Amino acid sequence: MDYSKFSKQELEEMLKIAQKELSKIGKRGISVDMSRGRPANDQFETVMPMLEDAAAYNYTLGGADARNYGGLGGIRQARELFGELLGLRAENVIVGDGSSLDLMYTAVAFAMQFGLRGETPWKDLNKVKFVCPAPGYDRHFAICEEFGIEMITVPMLEDGPDMDTVESLVEDDPSIKGIWCVPKYSNPTGIVYSDKVVERLATMKTAAKDFRIFWDNSYVIHGLYDNNDKLKNIFDVARKAGTFDRIYTFTSTSKITFAGAGVACMGASEENLVEFLKHLSIREICPNKVNQVMHVAFLKNVDNIKKIMAEHAKLLRPKFELVISRLTAEFAGDDFVKWTNPRGGYFISLDVRRCAKRIIELAKTVGVVFTPAGSTFPYHIDDGDSNIRIAPSVPSLEELSNAIDVLILAIKIARIELVLKKLYE
Ligand code: PMP
Repeated sequence: MDYSKFSKQELEEMLKIAQKELSKIGKRGISVDMSRGRPANDQFETVMPMLEDAAAYNYTLGGADARNYGGLGGIRQARELFGELLGLRAENVIVGDGSSLDLMYTAVAFAMQFGLRGETPWKDLNKVKFVCPAPGYDRHFAICEEFGIEMITVPMLEDGPDMDTVESLVEDDPSIKGIWCVPKYSNPTGIVYSDKVVERLATMKTAAKDFRIFWDNSYVIHGLYDNNDKLKNIFDVARKAGTFDRIYTFTSTSKITFAGAGVACMGASEENLVEFLKHLSIREICPNKVNQVMHVAFLKNVDNIKKIMAEHAKLLRPKFELVISRLTAEFAGDDFVKWTNPRGGYFISLDVRRCAKRIIELAKTVGVVFTPAGSTFPYHIDDGDSNIRIAPSVPSLEELSNAIDVLILAIKIARIELVLKKLYE
């Protein structure tokens, strides 16, 4: 659609019609929250049997009583299960409580306060910087902001971060201590890192000895289709390259069992885990191992988790497909609007030209809430004012359909406003 072909009068007329349509929808009194990647309530029915069977589980797995103190790094069976999921040995995994974000925050906090493997604590350095591929996960960026870590924005491409830029940054600057990565079904673009990108991350030269890749594998088994995409095992590459210490990985069952009440884990070299647990032992006596037993008993193994994830996918897939098909019907071939077509994860990433903020604002006036504009970029600075993160998991199909009506109208309005401004102001 080339709106610049129209006269001012025609554009104003089109704008009025779109505004009227939008307020008509507003009168339906819809309220749709698409701001966060949360499981929908019907997904929990799939995993409720875990709680129903809980009294019958064996809480003395391997001799120790999980109902008592002890076992700071989690129960052996949970470490094995997460190891299987992440492609690591149980020795390279510790299992904690419900949130992987908590473990990521804690890992940064320990590096800040105590330093890593004998290096200067980050808090005692003039400057600490992280590479932040963007669009990315807003809560990663929030951790950096909280600790005063300077963020360097690097473009996220279709096969992962722009590695030429990443390599040239980390090679020369010892104050760059980390990079955030969501390597599979990335938040928000849904891409999977290519083998080449994984290899380059694992083998690149870093000026900082205590450089860490925060490998947030939250969507490790969260495909929407039968054939889950394959992510190259970064630890295999790193082991060969002698860079195993560089990687911290994280995942959780927040989107397998219960969000906030699942089980989370961290994977790293044994030496890194020993250091991490030393600090952790001051903070807590042990994690909730009762929950770990429940998860191990219910989830069993990776093949069984795949079956559970197929149930989730059955509920999620139509929602993703509805959004994609409506956007395709409306904007296919139109350069002004672009969107991702993810094969997993919880998000669709939409890019427009210079009006994301206005679109999100317009949608909000009629009850459709998206993640605030700019959130997917460090410091909320989206130079192109382009990115909108769509989280389609929670609304019903009917709500989603209403929300997409709103989104399409909001895009039209914001776009005509832009053209009017450009041509006639
Ligand atoms: N990492 C990513 C990339 C996420 O999208 C989310 C949840 N939206 C989290 C971490 C948070 O996970 P948890 O519930 O394990 O803290």
